[in-house]
Amino acid sequence: MTNPLVIKGFDEEGNRISSKDYDELVHNAIEHSNHLQLETFGQHNIGCRLYSDKAVLLELIGPVGQRLGAMGMPGTTIISNDSASDDVGYLNIGAEIIVKGDASNGVCNAMAEGKVMIGGSIGARGLTMTKWNPAHNRPELWVLGSVGDTFAEFNCGGIGIVCGVNPKKKENVLGYRPCVGMVGGWIYFRGNTDGSFSKNDAKVLAPEDGQWQWLMDRMPDYLEKIGRLELLEELSIRDEWKVLVTNSVQEKLDLQDETLSMAEYKEQFWNNVFKGGDPLSDLAPDLDRKPIPVINTGDLRIKEPQWLNPSSKGKCIDCHLCETICPKAAVNRYDLDGDDTAKYQYGSDDQKCIGCGFCRDICPNDIWQMSLLK
Ligand code: SF4
Ligand code: SF4
Repeated sequence: MTNPLVIKGFDEEGNRISSKDYDELVHNAIEHSNHLQLETFGQHNIGCRLYSDKAVLLELIGPVGQRLGAMGMPGTTIISNDSASDDVGYLNIGAEIIVKGDASNGVCNAMAEGKVMIGGSIGARGLTMTKWNPAHNRPELWVLGSVGDTFAEFNCGGIGIVCGVNPKKKENVLGYRPCVGMVGGWIYFRGNTDGSFSKNDAKVLAPEDGQWQWLMDRMPDYLEKIGRLELLEELSIRDEWKVLVTNSVQEKLDLQDETLSMAEYKEQFWNNVFKGGDPLSDLAPDLDRKPIPVINTGDLRIKEPQWLNPSSKGKCIDCHLCETICPKAAVNRYDLDGDDTAKYQYGSDDQKCIGCGFCRDICPNDIWQMSLLK
């Protein structure tokens, strides 16, 4: 890395530069240097959406506002030598964000990829509503101390690591009611808890060999980045760690005494609370309530199927499976007259087809191919 380009968070008269103007200065600066030193003055959204074809390092000196590293891009590294405010790593999709002090509420809220490493403790609602695309790495949140209430609520694939070193509350490193609605991912933790995690959504286990290896492979890098490598030995005692693992769908169902069908739930609860079943009826009585077409056909599809039998990709055996499985009745079989080599062909109707690929998947002879529509 080159010598950093310094971007001051206040002007020549010592007045604070607004978050919007500061963001513009930072975006312009990475055109000239991929190593910036930011003398921040409480600006929000620092490190947000930095598109660059090279790795970008932002070193922060000074107080930062909310949403540090929000919508952070892969290749962006942000280091704050101090504590940070709310929503660190909000909607992050790949940035590595290191906060050497504490962070307040909403850390990693709705994050999809990337790592957030905290050198202290965090406030409420950390690791909530994360997402995970299996084609990418899972989002990770590392916390040296403890986390606040409602941790990992609706976590959907993120990995949390709570080390329990100098926690805010020694008797409870995971806060009140973690893991409510968690549907994916897992949480390593070390230290006492109040046992209030959602039993319907998660269970506590000892780390399996693979999980332990995963943790130990990454622990030195985390500790080095937050400047606490001396803790490695203390944090390498396997018996002191537990893992909160998401329950499978079947386990969740087994734990429930009685499961309501959607229709029963709608009748008993939803329609009862929202008169007529519409939660916006009092706020927006004139709203157009027609169903919104979220599934596209025609040229708005992402992919379209092509029947490749004529090009001999496979030999159609006329089994009708593609025609039968199509959820939109888009596949049709046509009789061909006067052709000795082909008596029939299959085709899909663009105005019905939604590009789901079921015809491709079910065909025993790989005759359908899904092509990207430009
Ligand atoms: S892609 Fe889906 S909707 Fe389109 S023809 Fe095949 S099965 Fe039918
Ligand atoms: S599923 Fe494949 S083999 Fe069967 S009719 Fe369709 S294209 Fe032909």
